[in-house]
Amino acid sequence: MKYYNLKDKEEVVDFKTATIKGQGKEKGLFFPEFIPQFDNSFIENLNQYSDEEIAFQCMKGFVGDEIPSDILKQIVSETINFEIPLKKINENIYSLELFHGPTLAFKDVGARFMSRCLSYFLKDENKKVTVLVATSGDTGGAVANGFYKTQGINVVILYPKNRVSPVQEKQLTALGENIYALEVDGSFDDCQSLVKQAFSDDEINSNLFLTSANSINIARWLPQQIYYLLALKQWQKLEKQNPVICVPSGNFGNICAGLLAYFRGLSAEHFIAACNENDVVPNYLKSEKLEPKKTVATLSNAMDVGNPSNFVRILELFNNQFEDLKNKISGYSIDDKKTLQTITKVYQEYNYVLEPHSTVAYSALEQYLKENPGKKGFILSTAHPVKFPDAVEKAINLKIELPESLTQLIKKEKKSTEINPDFEELKRFLLK
Ligand SMILES: *Cc1c(COP(=O)(O)O)cnc(C)c1O
Repeated sequence: MKYYNLKDKEEVVDFKTATIKGQGKEKGLFFPEFIPQFDNSFIENLNQYSDEEIAFQCMKGFVGDEIPSDILKQIVSETINFEIPLKKINENIYSLELFHGPTLAFKDVGARFMSRCLSYFLKDENKKVTVLVATSGDTGGAVANGFYKTQGINVVILYPKNRVSPVQEKQLTALGENIYALEVDGSFDDCQSLVKQAFSDDEINSNLFLTSANSINIARWLPQQIYYLLALKQWQKLEKQNPVICVPSGNFGNICAGLLAYFRGLSAEHFIAACNENDVVPNYLKSEKLEPKKTVATLSNAMDVGNPSNFVRILELFNNQFEDLKNKISGYSIDDKKTLQTITKVYQEYNYVLEPHSTVAYSALEQYLKENPGKKGFILSTAHPVKFPDAVEKAINLKIELPESLTQLIKKEKKSTEINPDFEELKRFLLK
């Protein structure tokens, strides 16, 4: 498979190059040259395949022969070596629990696949790579865990001091080895701007081979299709009609992967982009105008994105046909007040604990189903409630138990280096 740069269609690269570089010229995103189709019989009989076989079928067309089949099989089975259950919340709404991985967030899937591909490609290159990433909480943990002890790769994570939850902080700072955490005395935007400067600094780039691990990397984006198939496999055993799929969205990588799977033949009645008050895409779906905004801080902070970078891929999938796009995707914006109310309601009525991101999706899907009676669907539950204890405890006054997998980690010592939001400090650290 070849990938072209959405900003410069002359730039065409293979899977390996796109994975190592992350993005193309002018910061353009890579996009597959064609959309490999699923066989009808495969989609109709998912039930007859193991999860690993489904994951392999899902990815092989995008990787081609750049990774041998036996190794790709190994990579995809490690990518999904945790439970991804579809649970019923009520008569019409199910929850695809994507939070049983090592860092309790759906980002584990993309990070695990990407780290293993990168490590495979770098094995024979004798090249040391530094993955540099800014995080508001979830990305950093998933990336740290995905790349932990990976040969030839160092990971440097910038996070805003005092602005990530205690569990998130331990996931960034307690691993050690090849994972370095920089605690920036500033905001997430400061972290991101430091990272951007590093990518364009000549001195750093002549000394280090830097790459990013954010959701625009195809090796993080594409494997997210896998769990849409695993959801459908479970759905087909429970319901006859096709599901409405509702995705809590920030940078729009996750929903874009679902849409890609749909264009390949995945059965889906409709998609919903569920946003918090950062409502650029819901507004676009109303007005056809994409107007990036300054981000506002919300309870679902991993979705506080004012200029969703993956949206260009969605436009490309739909060939820039607004009417087609609008017929397949609805957008909703849910505020914090509604989010808290919904956490309370879902717990009281259905005894199901939601964290803020998944709640935004629940609320959006509930609204859509009210407007479109007779349909049913599922939300993508993107994080475990224990990662966002403040909001959950505020809404339902319940102490969330730490899953066993984390009790060891939380006891470990935090190791981080504090820096000011000053590029020279970051540079000194990287060149040291
Ligand atoms: C990153 C994240 C999202 C948003 O996913 P996108 O692919 O950026 O749209 C939603 N929920 C949680 C918990 C996240 O960490």
